Amino acid sequence: MIGIDLGTTNSLVAVLLDGEPRTLANELGEDLTPSAVSVAADGSILVGRAAKDRLITAPHSGRAFFKRDMGTPLTYQFGGRSWTPVECSALVLKEMKRIAELHLQIPVESAVITVPAYFHDQQRQATLDAAKIAGLHVERLLNEPTAAALAYGFRANDDLNTLMVFDLGGGTFDVTVLECFDGVVEVKASAGESRLGGEDYTDALAAWISREFQWSPAENERLRWRERVELVKRLLSRQDSASLPVAGKEIQISRDDFIAATTGLTARLRPVVRRALRDAQLTPAQLDSVLLVGGASRMPVVTSQLSEDTGLPPDTSLDPDRVVALGAAIQQGLCAGNTAVRDLVLTDVCPHTLGIEVSKQLTPGNVENGFFSPLIERNTTLPASRSDGFRTMREEQDELLLKVYQGEGRMVKDNQFIGQIRLSGLKTRRKQQFPGQVEVRFSYDMNGILEVEVTVLESGKKYCEVFEQRPGTMTPEQIAEAVRALQPLKIHPREFPLNRARIERANRLFADLIGQDRELLSILLDRFEAALSSQDPSPINETGGRLDAFMQSFFQDEV
Ligand code: AMP
Repeated sequence: MIGIDLGTTNSLVAVLLDGEPRTLANELGEDLTPSAVSVAADGSILVGRAAKDRLITAPHSGRAFFKRDMGTPLTYQFGGRSWTPVECSALVLKEMKRIAELHLQIPVESAVITVPAYFHDQQRQATLDAAKIAGLHVERLLNEPTAAALAYGFRANDDLNTLMVFDLGGGTFDVTVLECFDGVVEVKASAGESRLGGEDYTDALAAWISREFQWSPAENERLRWRERVELVKRLLSRQDSASLPVAGKEIQISRDDFIAATTGLTARLRPVVRRALRDAQLTPAQLDSVLLVGGASRMPVVTSQLSEDTGLPPDTSLDPDRVVALGAAIQQGLCAGNTAVRDLVLTDVCPHTLGIEVSKQLTPGNVENGFFSPLIERNTTLPASRSDGFRTMREEQDELLLKVYQGEGRMVKDNQFIGQIRLSGLKTRRKQQFPGQVEVRFSYDMNGILEVEVTVLESGKKYCEVFEQRPGTMTPEQIAEAVRALQPLKIHPREFPLNRARIERANRLFADLIGQDRELLSILLDRFEAALSSQDPSPINETGGRLDAFMQSFFQDEV
C-alpha cells in the first residue's frame, strides 16, 4: 500500500519506511512527477517529465492540468483518440504505482490518494474510477489539507495546537482549521475554491503582459512562452524583478507588476480564510500556527496577506511540495496498522452541505420548486449519518424523484447535482394516507462518498440503491474498456521513462538553441538514438550520460 498525492501540476508517491514517511523518486531522481500525459509520434504513451517536455514542442500531443476537469464530461483529443480526465489521471496513478514497485520490489495493489478537501462527490468518484483503471484499490481518499495536518501532527509535540492549513496548489485552494493534541488530529472546518490556484496566477500575469505590451505570442509559441511566464512568476517569489522576451525584446517585470496583475485572484483568498475560521468558531488570535501547503503558497503576495489576516508568520518548516504526500504515507501506515503511527488518530469533516431538492407551498395553492433542503451540514465530523422526513405534494402521488445536491445555495440551481433516485409504488393497497411520508437518510463516509437510503414510511419499503444517474462517472464496462486501452505495450529501451525524458528534453532544448550549441546537441542526440536502436544497455548509458551532462548547463536556471 502506498500514499499518492495526485496533484494538478505534479504528483508524488510516498511510503512509511523505518517509521518515517518518505517520498520516492523516479529514474530521473525526481520525486515530483509532472501530472502530464502525451502520445509520442510512434503511438507510445508518455507520462511525467517526458510528457511535459513534449507538450512544449508538440502542444497538441497530450494534456496537463486535467485534475481541474475531473468529474466533468470534458474530453480531450490527442494521439488519434479522445481522452477523459479520468483516463489521464489513471496514467499518472499507474506511473506512481510503477515508481513505488521499482523501489519496494513488490507488487503494489492499494493506495491512499489525496484529493482537495473541496472536491465534490463527482470529482471524488472520478478519482476512484481513475484508480480502478490504474489497477489500484483505494484504501482511503484523504483530503489534502488533512494529509498536511497529519504530517504536521506526526512531528508535533503533545501540546494542544490549533492550526490553519493554507493549501494553494496549481489549480485548487483549500483552507482547513484543525486541532492537534497528543496524537489526535481533529479537523474543525474546511473551506475552499475548487478552481483557484497557481496556474491562474500564471495566466493572469500572461494576460497582463499581453495587455500592457499590446502583444501576444504566435499560436505555436504560446505554450513555450507561457513556460517563460511561469518561470518569471517563480523567480518573483524570491527576487524583485525578472526578465522575459516580449515582441523580440527582453522586458523587466517587477514584483509590483505581478501584484497588480493578480490582485483579483489574491482578493478571492481572503473570504475563504474567514469562512474556515468562522465555521470552526475561532478567531485568528486563537491560532497557534499557519501551515503552508502547495507550491503557489510560496508567493510573497499571498503570504503577506495571510500574515496580515491571521497575525502569524506562516510556518514553512515542512516542504509545501511534499507535505501532502508525506501525510498520505502516514495515513497509509494508519490503514495498514503500522506501529510507527499507532498512537495517531484522525477525524475529518465533510466540506460541503448535502441535501435534497424540495418544493414548498409558500402561500396556499402556490407551490414553488427548486429549494435546497440540507441534511448534512458542511463541516460535520465524519463519518456522519443524518435523516429527515419529507412529504409528498399531491394526493394519489405514486412516484417520487429524489434529487441530491451538494452546496450552500438556498436554491438547488446554485448547487452541484450529485445524483437522483426514482421511487415508485408509494401507493399501497390500503387507501393511501395523504400526504405520503418518506424518511431520507444520508451517510457520508471517510472518503467523502455519499450513500442515500430512503424508507417509505407507509409500506416500510427501503430504497438503498446507488444513484441511477451520476454524471461523469463510469460504468464497470467503461472502466474495463479503459483498462484494455491503456495496457502497456511491449517496452523498447527507447520507451524507458529515463530515455524518453532525455529525448523530449533534448528536443525541447534543440528548439531553444542555435549555432554551435545546437549542432553539438544534434550530434549527441544522434549518437544516443543510435545506441537506443542497438538496444545494448552499455552504449545507451554512456551516450545518455553525455547528453545529460551537456543539457544540464542549460537547465540550471530552472526552478
Ligand atoms: P502543486 O499543485 O502544489 O504542485 O502547486 C503547483 C503550483 O505552485 C504551480 O501553479 C506552480 O506554478 C506554483 N509554484 C511552485 N513553486 C512556486 C514558486 N516558487 N513561486 C510561485 N509559484 C510556485
